[in-house]
Amino acid sequence: MRALTLFALAVLVAGRPAAGARPDAPKLKVVLVDGQNNHNWRATTPVLKKILEDSGRFTVDVSSNLKAGDKPGAVEKTVPFPPDLSKYDVLLSNYNGAAWPKEFEAGLEERLRDGKLGLVIVHAANNAFGSWKEYNLMIGMGWRDAKFGERLKLDDAGKEVRVPKGEDLGSGHRTTGKWPVVVRDAEHPVTKGMPREWMHNNDELYDNMRGPIQNVKVLATAFSKGTMAHEPMIWTVDYGKGRVFHTPMGHDVNAMQCLGFAATVARGTEWAATGKVTLPLPRDFPTATEVRLTK
Ligand SMILES: [Zn+2]
Repeated sequence: MRALTLFALAVLVAGRPAAGARPDAPKLKVVLVDGQNNHNWRATTPVLKKILEDSGRFTVDVSSNLKAGDKPGAVEKTVPFPPDLSKYDVLLSNYNGAAWPKEFEAGLEERLRDGKLGLVIVHAANNAFGSWKEYNLMIGMGWRDAKFGERLKLDDAGKEVRVPKGEDLGSGHRTTGKWPVVVRDAEHPVTKGMPREWMHNNDELYDNMRGPIQNVKVLATAFSKGTMAHEPMIWTVDYGKGRVFHTPMGHDVNAMQCLGFAATVARGTEWAATGKVTLPLPRDFPTATEVRLTK
């Protein structure tokens, strides 16, 4: 009772609702990069920012690499692009556009490799930078044509199958709608405690992700009726000492309103930054048959 009262008091002092993070935990610093995307980044960045901030675990700066003449997005706190990566624990990319400046790319490579920065990739961010070799190693696999590299899928027994480049199809989303996410690693800090299957809200189900697929650990999959295969939906990549968290889910605001997506991104971002997860799953997490939304 007393501990509960103290907790409530700490929450009051912090001025935000209890949303998961321990009140005494220092906030992790996130820089969210956007500004170009073939998706509606102006709509999705505020949702991603809110997911992270509502967890109580993060502060989020947004840095937009705008095309000349474009207006900035509608978020309160922005920093110029390129951001100073030494100020952050983790970079979340909601970006799919023109190449970043070489110095910024090299800085990201170095800080990630040295374990000084984590990286989070959401949906179409994995479409970007096909010719940036290190980026392909960081993300493990992304939206590429069939000749780009191997693809990874799971068979019905849950066994990983690597398909050589040139075989099967290029990347696509041959299924859309509501579909269950199947947890394949119940011990990883990000997926620990999730039900074995949980229903995701309407989204594109990315398939045939291609890449070098090195140091990749698949945490969850979804069965695509388009490919009749179990496609990776949540995975991690070790890049040197650095941690990368990657989900191809999150096509639009609607998909991001799934509580399962929100918890996945918040926990994945914490893990990429620290290697640990303290954020609990929401009590009303989606079930095997029921979608649950953040609002
Ligand atoms: Zn999409």
